Amino acid sequence: MAITSKEHTKVREISKTVRQPKRRSVYEDVVRQFNQAADLMNLDLGVRKILGTTMNEIVVHFPVKMDDGRIEVFTGYRVQHNNALGPFKGGLRYHPAVDIDEVRALATWMTWKSAIVNIPFGGAKGGIQLDPTQYSFAELERITRRFTYALGNTIGPDYDIPAPDVNTNPQIMAWILDTYQSMMPAFERQRCLGVVTGKPIESGGSIGRDKATGQGVVFLIREWAKDNNFDLGQATYIVQGFGNVGSWSARLLKPLGARLLAVEDVTGAVANPEGIDPEELTRYVKEHGGVRGYPNARMITHTEFLRTRADIFIPAALENQITAETAPLLNVRLVAEGANGPTTPEGDEVLTRRGIDILPDILCNSGGVIVSYFEWLQNKRSEFWELQEVDCKLYKKIVGGYQRVKETAKRFKVNWRTAAYIVALARLEKVYKERGIFP
Ligand code: NAD
Repeated sequence: MAITSKEHTKVREISKTVRQPKRRSVYEDVVRQFNQAADLMNLDLGVRKILGTTMNEIVVHFPVKMDDGRIEVFTGYRVQHNNALGPFKGGLRYHPAVDIDEVRALATWMTWKSAIVNIPFGGAKGGIQLDPTQYSFAELERITRRFTYALGNTIGPDYDIPAPDVNTNPQIMAWILDTYQSMMPAFERQRCLGVVTGKPIESGGSIGRDKATGQGVVFLIREWAKDNNFDLGQATYIVQGFGNVGSWSARLLKPLGARLLAVEDVTGAVANPEGIDPEELTRYVKEHGGVRGYPNARMITHTEFLRTRADIFIPAALENQITAETAPLLNVRLVAEGANGPTTPEGDEVLTRRGIDILPDILCNSGGVIVSYFEWLQNKRSEFWELQEVDCKLYKKIVGGYQRVKETAKRFKVNWRTAAYIVALARLEKVYKERGIFP
Protein backbone atom coordinates (compact mmCIF):
# COMPACT_ATOMS: atom_id res chain seq x y z
CA MET A 1 0.00 0.00 0.00
CA ALA A 2 1.81 3.12 -1.08
CA ILE A 3 1.54 6.49 0.46
CA THR A 4 -0.85 9.22 -0.60
CA SER A 5 0.20 12.87 -0.56
CA LYS A 6 -1.78 13.52 2.67
CA GLU A 7 0.03 10.80 4.61
CA HIS A 8 3.40 11.80 3.29
CA THR A 9 4.83 14.18 5.86
CA LYS A 10 3.91 11.96 8.81
CA VAL A 11 5.44 8.89 7.22
CA ARG A 12 8.60 10.78 6.39
CA GLU A 13 9.10 11.48 10.12
CA ILE A 14 8.28 7.93 11.14
CA SER A 15 10.64 6.48 8.57
CA LYS A 16 13.58 7.74 10.58
CA THR A 17 12.85 4.87 12.98
CA VAL A 18 12.54 2.23 10.25
CA ARG A 19 13.92 -1.17 11.14
CA GLN A 20 15.20 -2.93 8.05
CA PRO A 21 14.87 -6.70 7.83
CA LYS A 22 18.03 -8.71 8.29
CA ARG A 23 19.58 -9.30 4.88
CA ARG A 24 20.71 -12.63 3.52
CA SER A 25 20.46 -14.14 0.09
CA VAL A 26 16.76 -14.86 -0.27
CA TYR A 27 17.34 -16.43 -3.67
CA GLU A 28 19.66 -19.01 -2.08
CA ASP A 29 16.75 -20.01 0.14
CA VAL A 30 14.51 -20.35 -2.91
CA VAL A 31 17.03 -22.58 -4.64
CA ARG A 32 17.38 -24.67 -1.49
CA GLN A 33 13.61 -25.15 -1.19
CA PHE A 34 13.42 -25.95 -4.91
CA ASN A 35 16.20 -28.55 -4.78
CA GLN A 36 14.70 -30.25 -1.76
CA ALA A 37 11.34 -30.72 -3.50
CA ALA A 38 12.98 -31.63 -6.85
CA ASP A 39 15.02 -34.40 -5.14
CA LEU A 40 12.01 -35.80 -3.36
CA MET A 41 9.82 -36.01 -6.46
CA ASN A 42 12.68 -37.00 -8.74
CA LEU A 43 12.09 -34.04 -11.06
CA ASP A 44 13.28 -34.53 -14.64
CA LEU A 45 16.87 -33.31 -14.90
CA GLY A 46 16.28 -31.06 -17.92
CA VAL A 47 13.19 -29.47 -16.40
CA ARG A 48 15.16 -28.99 -13.24
CA LYS A 49 17.78 -27.04 -15.13
CA ILE A 50 15.14 -24.86 -16.81
CA LEU A 51 13.22 -24.08 -13.64
CA GLY A 52 16.35 -23.68 -11.55
CA THR A 53 17.20 -20.47 -13.35
CA THR A 54 15.43 -17.26 -14.34
CA MET A 55 14.59 -16.60 -18.02
CA ASN A 56 15.19 -12.85 -18.32
CA GLU A 57 16.67 -10.30 -15.96
CA ILE A 58 16.15 -6.66 -16.85
CA VAL A 59 18.01 -3.93 -14.99
CA VAL A 60 17.33 -0.32 -15.94
CA HIS A 61 18.93 2.91 -14.75
CA PHE A 62 16.78 5.92 -15.48
CA PRO A 63 16.93 9.64 -14.69
CA VAL A 64 14.12 11.58 -13.02
CA LYS A 65 13.81 15.29 -12.32
CA MET A 66 13.15 15.98 -8.62
CA ASP A 67 10.87 18.75 -7.32
CA ASP A 68 13.86 21.03 -6.65
CA GLY A 69 15.19 20.62 -10.22
CA ARG A 70 17.94 18.10 -9.36
CA ILE A 71 18.31 14.97 -11.50
CA GLU A 72 18.46 11.60 -9.71
CA VAL A 73 19.20 8.28 -11.37
CA PHE A 74 17.24 5.26 -10.11
CA THR A 75 17.77 1.54 -10.56
CA GLY A 76 14.78 -0.61 -11.42
CA TYR A 77 14.47 -4.36 -11.92
CA ARG A 78 12.19 -6.80 -13.67
CA VAL A 79 13.02 -10.48 -13.44
CA GLN A 80 11.01 -12.91 -15.56
CA HIS A 81 11.44 -16.37 -14.15
CA ASN A 82 9.26 -18.56 -16.36
CA ASN A 83 6.33 -18.29 -18.81
CA ALA A 84 5.60 -21.90 -19.69
CA LEU A 85 2.08 -21.65 -18.26
CA GLY A 86 1.22 -18.15 -19.51
CA PRO A 87 2.41 -14.51 -19.50
CA PHE A 88 4.93 -13.51 -16.84
CA LYS A 89 3.07 -12.13 -13.82
CA GLY A 90 4.12 -10.50 -10.55
CA GLY A 91 4.22 -7.38 -8.43
CA LEU A 92 6.39 -4.31 -8.31
CA ARG A 93 8.02 -3.31 -5.03
CA TYR A 94 9.37 0.09 -4.01
CA HIS A 95 11.78 -0.45 -1.13
CA PRO A 96 15.42 0.34 -0.21
CA ALA A 97 16.19 -3.39 0.10
CA VAL A 98 15.10 -4.22 -3.47
CA ASP A 99 18.00 -5.81 -5.38
CA ILE A 100 18.46 -8.40 -8.08
CA ASP A 101 18.72 -11.24 -5.55
CA GLU A 102 15.42 -10.38 -3.88
CA VAL A 103 13.62 -9.84 -7.19
CA ARG A 104 14.87 -13.20 -8.52
CA ALA A 105 13.49 -14.91 -5.45
CA LEU A 106 10.14 -13.15 -5.65
CA ALA A 107 9.84 -13.86 -9.40
CA THR A 108 10.52 -17.56 -8.87
CA TRP A 109 7.90 -17.83 -6.12
CA MET A 110 5.36 -16.29 -8.53
CA THR A 111 5.86 -19.16 -10.99
CA TRP A 112 5.15 -21.73 -8.28
CA LYS A 113 2.16 -19.78 -6.99
CA SER A 114 0.28 -19.67 -10.29
CA ALA A 115 1.04 -23.34 -10.93
CA ILE A 116 -0.38 -24.41 -7.54
CA VAL A 117 -3.71 -22.66 -8.02
CA ASN A 118 -3.98 -23.57 -11.71
CA ILE A 119 -3.98 -20.17 -13.35
CA PRO A 120 -2.40 -19.55 -16.76
CA PHE A 121 0.42 -17.25 -15.68
CA GLY A 122 4.15 -17.51 -15.31
CA GLY A 123 6.30 -15.78 -12.72
CA ALA A 124 7.96 -12.36 -12.63
CA LYS A 125 8.67 -9.61 -10.14
CA GLY A 126 10.17 -6.15 -10.22
CA GLY A 127 10.85 -3.08 -8.26
CA ILE A 128 12.83 0.05 -7.68
CA GLN A 129 15.44 0.43 -5.01
CA LEU A 130 14.16 3.45 -3.12
CA ASP A 131 12.53 4.55 0.11
CA PRO A 132 9.22 5.99 -1.10
CA THR A 133 8.78 8.02 2.10
CA GLN A 134 11.68 10.21 0.96
CA TYR A 135 9.91 11.40 -2.21
CA SER A 136 6.92 13.62 -2.82
CA PHE A 137 3.74 12.35 -4.46
CA ALA A 138 4.65 14.15 -7.69
CA GLU A 139 8.17 12.68 -7.63
CA LEU A 140 6.76 9.17 -7.15
CA GLU A 141 4.56 9.71 -10.18
CA ARG A 142 7.50 10.80 -12.35
CA ILE A 143 9.67 7.92 -11.04
CA THR A 144 6.90 5.42 -11.86
CA ARG A 145 6.25 6.82 -15.33
CA ARG A 146 9.94 6.93 -16.21
CA PHE A 147 10.45 3.37 -14.93
CA THR A 148 7.55 2.22 -17.13
CA TYR A 149 9.12 4.00 -20.10
CA ALA A 150 12.48 2.34 -19.35
CA LEU A 151 10.83 -1.10 -19.24
CA GLY A 152 9.18 -0.39 -22.61
CA ASN A 153 7.98 -3.51 -24.38
CA THR A 154 9.51 -5.88 -21.85
CA ILE A 155 6.08 -5.69 -20.19
CA GLY A 156 2.73 -6.02 -21.95
CA PRO A 157 -0.81 -7.41 -21.47
CA ASP A 158 0.02 -10.72 -23.14
CA TYR A 159 3.66 -10.85 -22.11
CA ASP A 160 4.41 -9.57 -18.60
CA ILE A 161 1.85 -8.05 -16.25
CA PRO A 162 2.94 -6.16 -13.10
CA ALA A 163 0.74 -5.61 -10.02
CA PRO A 164 1.03 -3.92 -6.60
CA ASP A 165 3.40 -5.19 -3.93
CA VAL A 166 5.15 -3.55 -0.96
CA ASN A 167 4.78 0.26 -1.12
CA THR A 168 2.95 0.23 -4.46
CA ASN A 169 -0.81 0.53 -4.89
CA PRO A 170 -3.68 1.08 -7.39
CA GLN A 171 -2.58 4.68 -7.98
CA ILE A 172 0.87 3.52 -9.10
CA MET A 173 -0.76 0.91 -11.36
CA ALA A 174 -2.90 3.67 -12.93
CA TRP A 175 0.26 5.67 -13.74
CA ILE A 176 1.89 2.60 -15.28
CA LEU A 177 -1.20 1.87 -17.38
CA ASP A 178 -1.43 5.47 -18.59
CA THR A 179 2.28 5.63 -19.47
CA TYR A 180 2.23 2.27 -21.23
CA GLN A 181 -0.88 3.22 -23.21
CA SER A 182 0.71 6.54 -24.19
CA MET A 183 3.64 4.64 -25.73
CA MET A 184 1.23 2.62 -27.95
CA PRO A 185 -0.37 3.65 -31.26
CA ALA A 186 -3.83 5.07 -30.59
CA PHE A 187 -5.67 2.07 -32.08
CA GLU A 188 -3.84 -0.35 -29.73
CA ARG A 189 -4.50 1.49 -26.47
CA GLN A 190 -7.80 -0.08 -25.41
CA ARG A 191 -6.32 -3.54 -25.89
CA CYS A 192 -3.62 -2.68 -23.32
CA LEU A 193 -5.86 -2.32 -20.27
CA GLY A 194 -4.51 -5.60 -18.91
CA VAL A 195 -0.86 -4.47 -18.86
CA VAL A 196 -1.16 -4.14 -15.08
CA THR A 197 -3.59 -5.54 -12.52
CA GLY A 198 -4.52 -4.08 -9.17
CA LYS A 199 -5.71 -0.92 -10.94
CA PRO A 200 -8.30 1.42 -9.43
CA ILE A 201 -11.79 0.10 -10.25
CA GLU A 202 -12.64 3.13 -12.41
CA SER A 203 -9.48 2.56 -14.48
CA GLY A 204 -10.27 -1.07 -15.26
CA GLY A 205 -9.53 -2.72 -11.92
CA SER A 206 -11.51 -5.61 -10.49
CA ILE A 207 -13.76 -5.27 -7.53
CA GLY A 208 -12.32 -7.42 -4.73
CA ARG A 209 -8.67 -7.13 -5.90
CA ASP A 210 -7.74 -4.78 -3.06
CA LYS A 211 -8.68 -7.31 -0.38
CA ALA A 212 -7.90 -10.41 -2.46
CA THR A 213 -4.65 -11.49 -0.82
CA GLY A 214 -6.07 -11.04 2.69
CA GLN A 215 -9.28 -12.75 1.60
CA GLY A 216 -7.28 -15.73 0.34
CA VAL A 217 -5.36 -15.90 3.63
CA VAL A 218 -8.66 -15.95 5.56
CA PHE A 219 -10.28 -18.55 3.28
CA LEU A 220 -7.31 -20.85 3.94
CA ILE A 221 -7.29 -20.22 7.69
CA ARG A 222 -10.97 -21.25 7.62
CA GLU A 223 -10.12 -24.47 5.76
CA TRP A 224 -7.32 -25.22 8.23
CA ALA A 225 -9.73 -24.58 11.14
CA LYS A 226 -12.31 -26.97 9.63
CA ASP A 227 -9.68 -29.67 9.14
CA ASN A 228 -8.46 -29.26 12.73
CA ASN A 229 -11.86 -28.90 14.43
CA PHE A 230 -10.74 -25.50 15.58
CA ASP A 231 -13.25 -22.81 16.54
CA LEU A 232 -12.21 -19.53 14.90
CA GLY A 233 -14.82 -17.75 17.02
CA GLN A 234 -12.55 -18.34 20.03
CA ALA A 235 -9.27 -17.79 18.20
CA THR A 236 -6.60 -15.19 18.86
CA TYR A 237 -4.04 -13.97 16.35
CA ILE A 238 -1.18 -11.56 15.74
CA VAL A 239 -0.20 -9.80 12.52
CA GLN A 240 3.15 -8.49 11.32
CA GLY A 241 2.77 -5.82 8.64
CA PHE A 242 -0.43 -3.80 8.54
CA GLY A 243 -0.46 -2.75 4.89
CA ASN A 244 -2.64 -4.26 2.19
CA VAL A 245 -2.25 -7.92 3.16
CA GLY A 246 -2.01 -7.57 6.95
CA SER A 247 -4.87 -5.13 7.41
CA TRP A 248 -7.24 -6.97 5.08
CA SER A 249 -6.49 -10.33 6.70
CA ALA A 250 -7.31 -8.81 10.10
CA ARG A 251 -10.43 -7.02 8.88
CA LEU A 252 -11.76 -10.20 7.31
CA LEU A 253 -11.02 -12.32 10.38
CA LYS A 254 -12.99 -9.93 12.59
CA PRO A 255 -16.48 -11.03 11.45
CA LEU A 256 -15.47 -14.65 12.20
CA GLY A 257 -15.04 -13.69 15.87
CA ALA A 258 -11.23 -14.03 16.09
CA ARG A 259 -9.45 -11.56 18.40
CA LEU A 260 -6.42 -9.56 17.25
CA LEU A 261 -3.92 -9.34 20.13
CA ALA A 262 -0.85 -7.62 18.65
CA VAL A 263 0.30 -5.91 15.46
CA GLU A 264 3.78 -4.97 14.32
CA ASP A 265 4.78 -2.79 11.41
CA VAL A 266 7.77 -0.72 10.36
CA THR A 267 6.99 1.90 13.03
CA GLY A 268 6.86 -0.53 16.00
CA ALA A 269 4.54 -3.02 17.70
CA VAL A 270 1.34 -2.59 19.73
CA ALA A 271 -0.67 -5.03 21.85
CA ASN A 272 -3.94 -5.25 23.73
CA PRO A 273 -4.97 -8.54 25.41
CA GLU A 274 -8.63 -7.43 25.22
CA GLY A 275 -8.31 -7.20 21.43
CA ILE A 276 -7.52 -4.55 18.83
CA ASP A 277 -10.24 -3.45 16.43
CA PRO A 278 -8.78 -3.98 12.91
CA GLU A 279 -11.12 -1.42 11.33
CA GLU A 280 -10.15 1.27 13.81
CA LEU A 281 -6.46 0.42 13.51
CA THR A 282 -6.70 0.57 9.70
CA ARG A 283 -8.09 4.11 9.94
CA TYR A 284 -5.34 5.07 12.42
CA VAL A 285 -2.58 3.68 10.20
CA LYS A 286 -3.96 5.48 7.16
CA GLU A 287 -3.83 8.76 9.03
CA HIS A 288 -0.56 8.31 10.97
CA GLY A 289 1.47 6.14 8.61
CA GLY A 290 1.90 3.26 11.07
CA VAL A 291 0.74 1.60 14.30
CA ARG A 292 3.05 3.62 16.55
CA GLY A 293 1.08 5.70 19.04
CA TYR A 294 -2.23 3.86 18.47
CA PRO A 295 -4.13 4.94 21.59
CA ASN A 296 -6.11 1.72 22.29
CA ALA A 297 -3.08 -0.53 22.76
CA ARG A 298 0.32 -0.32 24.43
CA MET A 299 3.65 -0.29 22.64
CA ILE A 300 5.65 -3.52 22.97
CA THR A 301 9.09 -4.59 21.77
CA HIS A 302 9.79 -6.78 18.74
CA THR A 303 10.63 -9.72 21.03
CA GLU A 304 7.44 -9.23 23.07
CA PHE A 305 5.48 -9.17 19.83
CA LEU A 306 7.00 -12.47 18.68
CA ARG A 307 6.42 -14.08 22.10
CA THR A 308 2.72 -13.14 22.22
CA ARG A 309 0.65 -16.22 23.00
CA ALA A 310 -1.97 -16.59 20.27
CA ASP A 311 -3.42 -19.28 18.00
CA ILE A 312 -2.38 -17.80 14.67
CA PHE A 313 0.51 -15.66 13.41
CA ILE A 314 0.08 -13.89 10.08
CA PRO A 315 3.40 -12.52 8.83
CA ALA A 316 2.43 -9.93 6.20
CA ALA A 317 5.53 -7.74 5.91
CA LEU A 318 8.85 -8.79 4.43
CA GLU A 319 11.18 -11.79 4.02
CA ASN A 320 13.38 -13.44 6.66
CA GLN A 321 11.25 -12.76 9.73
CA ILE A 322 10.90 -16.33 11.08
CA THR A 323 14.44 -17.59 11.46
CA ALA A 324 16.40 -20.08 13.59
CA GLU A 325 16.58 -17.29 16.22
CA THR A 326 12.97 -16.06 16.14
CA ALA A 327 11.03 -19.29 15.42
CA PRO A 328 11.67 -20.65 18.96
CA LEU A 329 10.03 -17.52 20.41
CA LEU A 330 6.67 -18.00 18.69
CA ASN A 331 3.74 -19.14 20.84
CA VAL A 332 1.23 -20.08 18.13
CA ARG A 333 -0.37 -23.14 16.51
CA LEU A 334 -0.46 -21.88 12.93
CA VAL A 335 1.67 -19.59 10.79
CA ALA A 336 -0.36 -18.31 7.81
CA GLU A 337 2.16 -16.68 5.49
CA GLY A 338 0.63 -13.56 3.94
CA ALA A 339 4.10 -12.23 3.08
CA ASN A 340 6.45 -13.76 0.53
CA GLY A 341 9.36 -15.61 2.08
CA PRO A 342 8.78 -14.67 5.73
CA THR A 343 10.32 -17.97 6.90
CA THR A 344 13.90 -19.05 6.25
CA PRO A 345 14.70 -22.77 5.77
CA GLU A 346 16.16 -22.83 9.31
CA GLY A 347 13.05 -21.15 10.69
CA ASP A 348 10.96 -23.70 8.82
CA GLU A 349 12.81 -26.58 10.47
CA VAL A 350 12.16 -25.14 13.92
CA LEU A 351 8.45 -24.64 13.20
CA THR A 352 8.12 -28.19 11.84
CA ARG A 353 10.02 -29.63 14.82
CA ARG A 354 7.78 -27.71 17.21
CA GLY A 355 4.64 -29.02 15.48
CA ILE A 356 3.50 -25.56 14.37
CA ASP A 357 1.38 -25.80 11.21
CA ILE A 358 2.33 -23.66 8.22
CA LEU A 359 0.21 -22.38 5.36
CA PRO A 360 3.15 -21.66 3.04
CA ASP A 361 3.40 -18.33 1.19
CA ILE A 362 3.21 -19.76 -2.33
CA LEU A 363 -0.23 -21.13 -1.45
CA CYS A 364 -1.40 -18.82 1.33
CA ASN A 365 -0.95 -15.44 -0.38
CA SER A 366 -2.01 -16.58 -3.86
CA GLY A 367 -5.37 -14.77 -3.54
CA GLY A 368 -3.72 -11.66 -4.98
CA VAL A 369 -2.58 -13.28 -8.19
CA ILE A 370 -5.83 -15.21 -8.53
CA VAL A 371 -7.94 -12.04 -8.52
CA SER A 372 -5.31 -10.37 -10.73
CA TYR A 373 -6.07 -13.14 -13.21
CA PHE A 374 -9.79 -12.34 -12.90
CA GLU A 375 -9.04 -8.65 -13.50
CA TRP A 376 -7.00 -9.53 -16.59
CA LEU A 377 -9.85 -11.72 -17.89
CA GLN A 378 -12.42 -8.97 -17.31
CA ASN A 379 -10.19 -6.51 -19.21
CA LYS A 380 -9.81 -8.94 -22.10
CA ARG A 381 -13.56 -9.52 -22.32
CA SER A 382 -14.65 -5.96 -21.46
CA GLU A 383 -16.65 -7.36 -18.54
CA PHE A 384 -17.23 -6.24 -14.98
CA TRP A 385 -17.91 -8.94 -12.43
CA GLU A 386 -19.77 -8.47 -9.13
CA LEU A 387 -17.96 -8.96 -5.81
CA GLN A 388 -19.86 -12.14 -5.02
CA GLU A 389 -18.72 -13.70 -8.29
CA VAL A 390 -15.09 -12.68 -7.68
CA ASP A 391 -15.08 -14.01 -4.10
CA CYS A 392 -16.80 -17.24 -5.09
CA LYS A 393 -14.31 -17.92 -7.89
CA LEU A 394 -11.39 -16.98 -5.62
CA TYR A 395 -12.60 -19.42 -2.99
CA LYS A 396 -12.81 -22.27 -5.52
CA LYS A 397 -9.34 -21.60 -6.93
CA ILE A 398 -7.50 -21.20 -3.64
CA VAL A 399 -9.22 -24.07 -1.89
CA GLY A 400 -8.44 -26.24 -4.92
CA GLY A 401 -4.77 -25.40 -4.30
CA TYR A 402 -5.16 -26.15 -0.59
CA GLN A 403 -6.60 -29.61 -1.34
CA ARG A 404 -3.80 -30.45 -3.80
CA VAL A 405 -1.13 -29.40 -1.29
CA LYS A 406 -2.84 -31.31 1.53
CA GLU A 407 -3.05 -34.53 -0.50
CA THR A 408 0.56 -34.17 -1.70
CA ALA A 409 1.81 -33.63 1.87
CA LYS A 410 0.09 -36.85 2.86
CA ARG A 411 1.32 -38.81 -0.17
CA PHE A 412 4.97 -37.74 0.10
CA LYS A 413 4.94 -37.47 3.92
CA VAL A 414 6.42 -33.99 3.77
CA ASN A 415 5.56 -30.63 5.29
CA TRP A 416 3.17 -28.30 3.50
CA ARG A 417 5.84 -26.06 2.05
CA THR A 418 7.62 -28.94 0.33
CA ALA A 419 4.25 -30.30 -0.77
CA ALA A 420 3.34 -26.95 -2.32
CA TYR A 421 6.60 -27.00 -4.28
CA ILE A 422 5.93 -30.54 -5.47
CA VAL A 423 2.45 -29.58 -6.73
CA ALA A 424 3.90 -26.64 -8.69
CA LEU A 425 6.88 -28.52 -10.09
CA ALA A 426 4.80 -31.52 -11.15
CA ARG A 427 2.50 -29.28 -13.20
CA LEU A 428 5.40 -27.51 -14.90
CA GLU A 429 7.21 -30.78 -15.54
CA LYS A 430 4.11 -32.16 -17.27
CA VAL A 431 3.86 -29.12 -19.53
CA TYR A 432 7.53 -29.26 -20.52
CA LYS A 433 7.27 -33.00 -21.25
CA GLU A 434 4.16 -32.51 -23.39
CA ARG A 435 5.63 -29.67 -25.44
CA GLY A 436 9.29 -30.62 -25.61
CA ILE A 437 12.06 -28.14 -26.17
CA PHE A 438 12.43 -26.12 -29.39
CA PRO A 439 14.02 -26.88 -31.88
P1 NAD B 1 2.35 -2.92 2.00
O1 NAD B 1 3.38 -1.97 1.54
O2 NAD B 1 0.92 -2.57 1.82
O3 NAD B 1 2.58 -3.21 3.56
C1 NAD B 1 3.79 -3.64 4.08
C2 NAD B 1 3.70 -3.64 5.59
O4 NAD B 1 4.88 -4.21 6.11
C3 NAD B 1 3.58 -2.23 6.19
O5 NAD B 1 2.65 -2.27 7.26
C4 NAD B 1 4.97 -1.96 6.71
O6 NAD B 1 4.99 -1.06 7.79
C5 NAD B 1 5.37 -3.36 7.16
N1 NAD B 1 6.81 -3.53 7.30
C6 NAD B 1 7.78 -3.17 6.43
N2 NAD B 1 8.99 -3.44 6.95
C7 NAD B 1 8.78 -4.00 8.16
C8 NAD B 1 9.63 -4.50 9.19
N3 NAD B 1 10.94 -4.46 9.03
N4 NAD B 1 9.06 -4.99 10.32
C9 NAD B 1 7.72 -5.00 10.46
N5 NAD B 1 6.86 -4.56 9.53
C10 NAD B 1 7.39 -4.06 8.40
O7 NAD B 1 2.68 -4.32 1.32
P2 NAD B 1 1.71 -5.55 1.04
O8 NAD B 1 1.21 -5.43 -0.34
O9 NAD B 1 0.74 -5.71 2.16
O10 NAD B 1 2.76 -6.74 1.04
C11 NAD B 1 3.17 -7.38 2.24
C12 NAD B 1 3.75 -8.75 1.91
O11 NAD B 1 2.77 -9.52 1.23
C13 NAD B 1 4.96 -8.73 0.99
O12 NAD B 1 5.80 -9.81 1.31
C14 NAD B 1 4.35 -8.96 -0.38
O13 NAD B 1 5.28 -9.48 -1.31
C15 NAD B 1 3.28 -9.96 -0.02
N6 NAD B 1 2.20 -10.09 -0.98
C16 NAD B 1 1.45 -9.00 -1.33
C17 NAD B 1 0.41 -9.16 -2.24
C18 NAD B 1 -0.51 -8.03 -2.60
O14 NAD B 1 -1.50 -8.28 -3.27
N7 NAD B 1 -0.26 -6.80 -2.19
C19 NAD B 1 0.15 -10.42 -2.80
C20 NAD B 1 0.93 -11.50 -2.41
C21 NAD B 1 1.94 -11.32 -1.49
